[in-house]
Amino acid sequence: MNTLEASHAPAPQESLAQYIRRIRTTLGLSQRDLAERAGLHLQSVGKLERGKTAKLNRKTQSGLAQALQLPVEYLEAISRGLAVAPAAVIKFCPYCWIPGTSPEPIWTHPRAKHCFLCGTALCSRCSQCQSSILSLSHRFCPYCGKAYKPS
Ligand SMILES: [Zn+2]
Ligand SMILES: [Zn+2]
Repeated sequence: MNTLEASHAPAPQESLAQYIRRIRTTLGLSQRDLAERAGLHLQSVGKLERGKTAKLNRKTQSGLAQALQLPVEYLEAISRGLAVAPAAVIKFCPYCWIPGTSPEPIWTHPRAKHCFLCGTALCSRCSQCQSSILSLSHRFCPYCGKAYKPS
């Protein structure tokens, strides 16, 4: 279990405001840095962290996810008041996965370690830079450009 990854998931009972503040400070960003990276007004970030913003629009959500290096699903879940299930970790078989499609649900099961079809160890991070995989609608790692599926 990767502790960095675990600490980046919303804690149970954590509010959106607390969550954003926690991740921002973990990354050593000021509110201004975050606003700049996420393409938001400094005031909007302040409002968010004071809990004055209950709902995020899609643009804010994706800006924040990118700036805070989080899967957008985490922000989506927490702003809707849902817990992030450990099953939200994206894992896939590098041989059986077809790029651009959703992973088989059984691959993302918290205890699944091997592909049920071919027995290969499942991947949950980029083979080149080790960044966690944010979405399998991406074919390539957004950080280093490596294809998720080996050719
Ligand atoms: Zn497989
Ligand atoms: Zn990478």
